[in-house]
Amino acid sequence: MTLELTIVGCAGSTAGPDSAASCYLVSAADDAGRTWRLVLDLGSGAVGPLQRHCDPARVDGVVISHGHPDHCADLGAVDVLRRYGPARDEGLPRIPLLGPAGIDRRIGDVSGNPSDRGAETYDHWPVTAGETVSIGPFTIEAARALHPVRAFAYLIAAGDSRLLFTGDTDRCDAVDALASRATAILGEAGWAHREVNPPGVHMNGDQLGRMAADAGVERLIVTHIASWVDPEPTLAQVRAHAPQAVLARPGDVHAL
Ligand SMILES: [Zn+2]
Ligand SMILES: [Zn+2]
Repeated sequence: MTLELTIVGCAGSTAGPDSAASCYLVSAADDAGRTWRLVLDLGSGAVGPLQRHCDPARVDGVVISHGHPDHCADLGAVDVLRRYGPARDEGLPRIPLLGPAGIDRRIGDVSGNPSDRGAETYDHWPVTAGETVSIGPFTIEAARALHPVRAFAYLIAAGDSRLLFTGDTDRCDAVDALASRATAILGEAGWAHREVNPPGVHMNGDQLGRMAADAGVERLIVTHIASWVDPEPTLAQVRAHAPQAVLARPGDVHAL
């Protein structure tokens, strides 16, 4: 069984001219041959390019790292698609929404109706650190990330593949522990190649490369470099420790 990762959006902090903010699609088939799809983050602008790769109304789960808009703003857009789009009358099952407790409130924040939590579209499953959840062929394990708001990293496994999605995090023991069990890492380098790195927010390229090297993980996809930053110097910094690292690019598909 292959876990396939599609980069939908990889720009950090805001959508950029060539990419939506954080959004990734992972897919894997179950034993009966049915393909299951999870969306990791629904950052600003993501619902546009996501439609190139799947029908957002029919995904099997949405997994949100945290409540910053570059990771969750388009929860509301998928809710609108479900309620008013072509599938509105089909009685589709609600989509499991994994994320920090209260992440569903962000839908009301963007819709302007504080009581709107997308309850017709999503079935909110608040995540706790150390918890493992199953959806189809996937198991999803959460670890608390180190970020100014409540945030999670996730280890997403299907078959023999185990993908660590860091979300936004400074380097920390809990995320390192997931990395040690991963076969591939989709890792943030939100501080890019800057050397002065305020603690508790993001990794820079040096830290991300070291994390993958310490974990012995060769498959490393570098993401969440700010939309206004040239990513190449950061990739060079990562590759000093993880020579096979590549940059996330919208539309790229990785078989993991
Ligand atoms: Zn972010
Ligand atoms: Zn953030």
